[in-house]
Amino acid sequence: MPDPYTPSPNVAALRESATIAVSARARALRAQGRPVIDLGAGEPDAPTPPFVCDAAAEAVANGATRYTAVEGLPALRAVIAAEAVERSGGRLALDAGNVTVSTGTKQSLFNACFSLLGPGDELLVPTPGWTSYYEIAGLARARAVAVRGEEARSLKVTPAALAAAATAQTRALVLNSPCNPTGAVYDAAELRAILDLARARGWWVIADEIYRHIAYGGGPAPSALEVATPEDRLVVVDGVAKAYAMTGWRIGWAIAPSGVARAMTALQSHTTSNAATVSQYAALAALTRREESGRAIAAMLEQLAARRAGAMAILRDAGVPFIEPAGAFYLFLRVPGDPAAEPGSAFAARLLEEREVAIVPGAAFGTPEWVRISFAAPTDQVLEGVRRTVGLLREWV
Ligand code: GLU
Repeated sequence: MPDPYTPSPNVAALRESATIAVSARARALRAQGRPVIDLGAGEPDAPTPPFVCDAAAEAVANGATRYTAVEGLPALRAVIAAEAVERSGGRLALDAGNVTVSTGTKQSLFNACFSLLGPGDELLVPTPGWTSYYEIAGLARARAVAVRGEEARSLKVTPAALAAAATAQTRALVLNSPCNPTGAVYDAAELRAILDLARARGWWVIADEIYRHIAYGGGPAPSALEVATPEDRLVVVDGVAKAYAMTGWRIGWAIAPSGVARAMTALQSHTTSNAATVSQYAALAALTRREESGRAIAAMLEQLAARRAGAMAILRDAGVPFIEPAGAFYLFLRVPGDPAAEPGSAFAARLLEEREVAIVPGAAFGTPEWVRISFAAPTDQVLEGVRRTVGLLREWV
């Protein structure tokens, strides 16, 4: 029987998430018995710290099985606001009214884009940029405008490039540091320069800081909240997924001016309502039991740093150029070939079929001549996967 479905205009142009699709493909091949090394989706391979799991079990035993407020548990929102105030050195006057908790940081981004953008608006997306920014802008009936980063600056964008790409329709800019897929980190001066430009132009800035704790320069990466306030038209999205190894719990949040927070909550009241109650309690434990969390983050960072060093050594020895990641857990490499022919996609497909290594084609991030390798996987697999990548690159040219 022919499939009776014709896509509604809401989703007609929507492309499935490539980062998720790569992992699904790797899982399917594994299920067929093929020993695929999955360096695709960005997901810590560490388990959630046991104290977080125990706190969640205890919460359920104590009856945490019902709805919470749409915007999240007051205690969780308060601790998120308090941490942000602390991060700003006490400069910001934020409280729980500025925080909306959602089902993963992806929903917070969706809520923010949907609440801030409308038909005809333009969202500046530093490119390469995470795949979902482009699609979420489209769902909000806005247009994502790719602003290419400079290779000499780890593919980071400059205020000048953003200003050049702006039009009268520019409404917002997404700023992701540490960056997925490059691992590039904007230092405080770079953040300030971009936020100053946005303030001067009246743009909203959606700062995606989900990788903030995963940085290799000592301490977390600088936050937009250190150089600007939500009243400057700033929305910061973050979550527990990466730093606390809690991807499956689906807890993210947005810190925003209270009007935006209310709009996002109203939107969420018609989509998912509150994020899963048990997960909110788990996140509360992760955020409040800071000593234990700190130890877990430090242990994960140590492991990631060793993998990063090992993988970079293999690439350097082979003379393969790449973006040195100052944060997150990705290596971003250029694949020789005509960008119009999407060499990154052809390369990733061949690497999977012939060498059984899953990586993400750069086309997903607006850069079809690159590929992304995640090093958040067991060390032996990361090193072997990078060796096989180098092997195929040698044959590629
Ligand atoms: N953000 C991660 C990645 O880029 C997880 C998958 C996704 O949500 O895109 O791989």
